[in-house]
Amino acid sequence: EEQTKKKFKPEPVSHDTERSKLSVDELRKKSRHVYLAARKDKKVEELKQELADEAYLFKDVKLTKREQHNIDLKKYTLNLALEHERAQQMENIDRYHMPTGTSDDTLKNDRYREDNRHPEAKSSGQNSDQRRWEDEVIHTALPHYGSLDKEAKNKQPKYDYILDEEIQFVQQLTIPGVNQILQQQKEKPKLHEHEDENKRKHRELQESRKTLPIYRFREDLINAIREHQVLIIEGETGSGKTTQLTQYLYEEGFCEADIEEGDEDEDDDDNEINLPGVKKKTKKKMMIGCTQPRRVAAMSVAARVAEEMNVKLGREVGYSIRFEDCSSDRTVIKYMTDGMLLREFLGEPDLASYSVLIVDEAHERTLHTDILFGLVKDIARFRPKLKLLISSATLDADKFSQFFDDAPIFRIPGRRFPVDIYYTKAPEADYIDAAVVTVLQIHVTQPLGDILVFLTGQEEIESANEMLLERTRRLGSKIKELIVLPIYSTLPSDMQIKIFEPAPPGARKVILATNIAETSLTIDGIVFVIDPGFCKQKTYNARNGMEALTITPISKASANQRAGRAGRVAPGKCFRLYTAWAYQHELDENAIPEIQRTNLGNVVLLLKSLGINDLVNFDYMDPPPMETLRLAFEQLYALGALNHKVELTKLGRRMAEFPLDPMLSKTILASETYKCSSEILTIVSMLSVNNSIFFRPKDKMLLADTARQAFFAPGGDHLTLLNVYNQWKDTNYSTQWCFENFIQFRSMNRARQVRDQLEALMERVEIEIQSNPADTVGIRKSICAGFFYHTTKFSKNGMYKTVRHQQTVLIHPNSCLFDQIPRYVIYFELVLTTKEYMRQVIEIENEWLRETAPHFYKTKK
Ligand code: ADP
Ligand code: MG
Repeated sequence: EEQTKKKFKPEPVSHDTERSKLSVDELRKKSRHVYLAARKDKKVEELKQELADEAYLFKDVKLTKREQHNIDLKKYTLNLALEHERAQQMENIDRYHMPTGTSDDTLKNDRYREDNRHPEAKSSGQNSDQRRWEDEVIHTALPHYGSLDKEAKNKQPKYDYILDEEIQFVQQLTIPGVNQILQQQKEKPKLHEHEDENKRKHRELQESRKTLPIYRFREDLINAIREHQVLIIEGETGSGKTTQLTQYLYEEGFCEADIEEGDEDEDDDDNEINLPGVKKKTKKKMMIGCTQPRRVAAMSVAARVAEEMNVKLGREVGYSIRFEDCSSDRTVIKYMTDGMLLREFLGEPDLASYSVLIVDEAHERTLHTDILFGLVKDIARFRPKLKLLISSATLDADKFSQFFDDAPIFRIPGRRFPVDIYYTKAPEADYIDAAVVTVLQIHVTQPLGDILVFLTGQEEIESANEMLLERTRRLGSKIKELIVLPIYSTLPSDMQIKIFEPAPPGARKVILATNIAETSLTIDGIVFVIDPGFCKQKTYNARNGMEALTITPISKASANQRAGRAGRVAPGKCFRLYTAWAYQHELDENAIPEIQRTNLGNVVLLLKSLGINDLVNFDYMDPPPMETLRLAFEQLYALGALNHKVELTKLGRRMAEFPLDPMLSKTILASETYKCSSEILTIVSMLSVNNSIFFRPKDKMLLADTARQAFFAPGGDHLTLLNVYNQWKDTNYSTQWCFENFIQFRSMNRARQVRDQLEALMERVEIEIQSNPADTVGIRKSICAGFFYHTTKFSKNGMYKTVRHQQTVLIHPNSCLFDQIPRYVIYFELVLTTKEYMRQVIEIENEWLRETAPHFYKTKK
């Protein structure tokens, strides 16, 4: 062996091998070539072999830098090729593949393989026999949905001709209905002969208001509110809490402000001159504010209430969400996201313009809602006339009551029909596909009634939408009409309204929704619910400060809320695309409140600007982990927003003006130094529209990719985004241009809207708008000043490592830097699929870090 080793050991000539004569660029070209070949699945094995050979040959040789680099490149290329293969598989074939195979590593996180995971099945043969027997009994005893037993076949002769796929479900249990006695008979329509269209519509709306479960409790509710300052209101989703409470309060005069004592001496804000002896007579109306965790809910509910009150949206009834304020001086009922109310504390620390605050959807426990709890509890103490209502859909009421000093709970008895729950017999590999198949299965076998499908986000909804359209087109007139309607947070409002329109006679509506339809929005007419069991969640690793969006299993509480949506108008059915075993053993009881799983930088900055200094002892319902708080302080210190005494700096105060993540705010403020605020505003706005800029239709993917690549700008993805925006602007914001370039017009419009808002805020921090498009270094330095925490370095093992924690990450295959491999890059965000991918990256120089982040790089050593 020694012999052969020697024989193979190359003479030190290796330094002169042909490869080492190549320039870096040529190397890159070559590597790219290899990589491209690898993309076509050709060279992966070859590359592996080559690397193995080299490792063996060069074992005892001291390599030159370039040789080392060369090998690194190769390793990197190999990794990319492998990663790319995997990503490709995930994205195209079965994106959210839930493994059903038998390979060992897939078993680890497979929630669906019950037989393998069931501890008894593994440990004891007797028990597993027992189980199998039980399963068999269950399967034969319970009605099979969609099964092809004889009876069904006779009843549905067309069934198996129409669908070539089917999913087997077993019914496991029925959620009983509640208080069905309360269900009211529809009042006989009275005759109103000489009514015009508008009047009729208004009367009908008013009548439908009276059929909501909350209506019978109107008086009791109002009395309870008059009597108590804080009231917890609990009621089934759809009982009318969100749309009716505000109106009742308004109708009962809760907006008439009798000017509160002590009001006069603290109005430094409005410069009204108070003439001595002249009493302020003008009773300004006060507002009823109602918070929502989601922007779509705030908009949609406000629109509904405006309609019910027969006023124009934005006047008496308005809404306020980030980057969009649709309210006016006349507004008396204001719906807003919880985050927006938080920001209102900045301008008005006692929220004096509100007479009532409703923290709605409290059970969602979003970060902002949780922080609001502490703040509103505090202002309620020194504003005795303020009314505070906490409203929630589920059974958390006792917890809320405890937090608010044992505030009384008002329970609105719900109205709900029984819902049958069906589970899949076997795990489903691809839940989008399974959902689509189930929709069609319902459509051909079940009586009319609308279907609600829960998916995790826009991408999933769009692909399910496409699949459904395609399959129904194929089935043509063999099936009844199926109307597919998506709803997610960035959907434009005219499309949002559509989901509420009833399906035409003979047709069925399918709504593809995110979590928004779980409790925030009630859509009438739903009889079938399809629940794949997942939602998108932010996860935060407090040890290394890395935050990522991941698709996670929902909680049992969520699953039951989702099922409940099927029983509002008639007895319903809920199809869970997971097994009964998975439900029992793999879902948590309740979701973890967001405050315990997210980065707190933004909230800490806000609270500090409100003068709340002791954040450790803030009145939390559930406190965040200490580690997370500490990390937020550390990050804000590094950004220069806090000083070493953990006090807010001037920079920090300016940063708090922006409704953005502190890193983005810092980027904007840094652009002043590099005289490129205009470009940075564009980039920040483009980043805020969530990766929905480029459009990639299934049948034109290659064309779309080419179009996208044409925008690639040297330096990185941020500059690519800038490029897209500027070109669009040059066409005078043309729709046609977007269409031709596979750009989503809607997203661009939103970016433009966001940009306008940010530009308006620039005045508040006194930054001039300066444009300097050619100075890509200045632009990148500004980004560096905000995102230096996200610096990663190309490392010897051929991957990128984060500078702070040596975490291994990869450039996302969509990035324009994907095959360029710069030494240092900064990323905007991480997405977790099989690996941690960096999305939106730019190339930077090491030296910029010390220049742009002196706090951080000085303290490091
Ligand atoms: P809760 O807050 O108790 O869940 P809501 O007040 O949201 O109940 O809903 C009460 C009723 O108002 C439901 O029947 C719902 O369908 C209807 N509704 C709410 N928003 C709209 C809308 N934008 N368009 C049509 N109907 C709506
Ligand atoms: Mg509601």
